[in-house]
Amino acid sequence: MEKTQTHKMTVSVDRHSSHLEQFKDFYKELDDQGQTIEKLPHEEIEVYQLRAINATLRHVWNHNEYYHSKLAEAGFTEPKIDSLEQLASVPMLEKDPLRGDKEKILCVNPKEIGQVHLTSGTSGKPIYTAYTLADQYVYDLLPKYLELFKEADDDVAAIALPYEFALPGLGFQRLFQFAFGTAVLSLGKGGYMAPVDKSLELMKEYQATVLTTTPSYAALLAEESENYGIKIGEDIPLKKIWLTGEGCSPAFRERLEKWWGCEVSFFYGSTECGVIGVECSNHQGYHVMEGHVKVEIIDPDTGEVLPYGRTGEIVVTTLLREGMPMVRYRTGDLGKLQPSQCDCGTKMDVLQLRGRIEHMLRIGKEDYSPFMIEHFLMEIPDVGLWYHFKLNEGMLTIEAEKFRTNLSDEQLAKKIQKHMADRIGIDCEVVIRDDIPRTFGKATRVIIN
Ligand SMILES: [Zn+2]
Repeated sequence: MEKTQTHKMTVSVDRHSSHLEQFKDFYKELDDQGQTIEKLPHEEIEVYQLRAINATLRHVWNHNEYYHSKLAEAGFTEPKIDSLEQLASVPMLEKDPLRGDKEKILCVNPKEIGQVHLTSGTSGKPIYTAYTLADQYVYDLLPKYLELFKEADDDVAAIALPYEFALPGLGFQRLFQFAFGTAVLSLGKGGYMAPVDKSLELMKEYQATVLTTTPSYAALLAEESENYGIKIGEDIPLKKIWLTGEGCSPAFRERLEKWWGCEVSFFYGSTECGVIGVECSNHQGYHVMEGHVKVEIIDPDTGEVLPYGRTGEIVVTTLLREGMPMVRYRTGDLGKLQPSQCDCGTKMDVLQLRGRIEHMLRIGKEDYSPFMIEHFLMEIPDVGLWYHFKLNEGMLTIEAEKFRTNLSDEQLAKKIQKHMADRIGIDCEVVIRDDIPRTFGKATRVIIN
């Protein structure tokens, strides 16, 4: 299918020359052989990654002062590593120096910028990311993951993610339209043009088959559908929900699968790094999108790279970015990597995500991932999908709502306490509420005093 190109795209994309042009051939060869990067033997993926990292290092060395000086300070006399292990000698990129500085790691002439996104800045000034049009419409779409994405041109994808400022809405829109030829319903999320009833009506009218949203908004849409007389499994015949933006537990996912009557998978990405990991239908963790990113796990205190199986901070190097490549970017998220033994056939490493470092709940002497505690809470069918974990001096209070249950508040509180003690051995206080605020933004579930 030919897409019409605008004048601007003809200028910026077709006559483009960047360090990434060489990878068009790499991906074309895979295409010609009927292969995708996801199924290559891992050694071959690593050869590609080393090549892409070296191309990126050369690009940032030549086009950005900040990157250049950091590499030089670290003893590099040329922008090159000989093995993926040597990536550990490349300086890491911290968030703080990037906050509020739109040119710090910009690697192209500002007039080359096609799109700007920024982080929500909940913890300080925003981080800006700038893309060239070639980044968005050429390089980002080179790797195909046909095992992970089954969407096609007969699907209708509803995107209920923010379109303003941050990447998610527009990022998914591009992916669906340009990679799969899918029709898109740009629902947005929480904008004044996007009330819930209108969003549900549009999904019904166009018989949406795919929904991409956050876990909390998937819950909100399901809940609200009942107020508008829309039967989500029947009136809206979804085949698949992609969840992103907040992270959630397998048990929360199962609740949504039951409610919506379709498969729900997780998608892990960020405004700074784009896509990082995607779940296959086996739901055993995120396959790292190794065509787009190289992921390392480091000890957040020492910066040392950790081997497979150890939990630490997720560090991402983008492989197909020209405007603003992220080189060894510290995400502030925790996780661990394993080689893929998944029978889906995808050879890309598997990432288990534990959540943001600052959201870890220190109870007694242990750090608990909020996803893990959520998982056990969501195992209780009488508990609703809205809750708070409040931590005060090492004591956890769970605020929860009832869900289609005959239990009294007191009975449910006792049930939760017992379940948490039996399943993970933690003592907690439980408060049953019926007024936990719904949100159109990011759900605040962890409150640490
Ligand atoms: Zn798999």
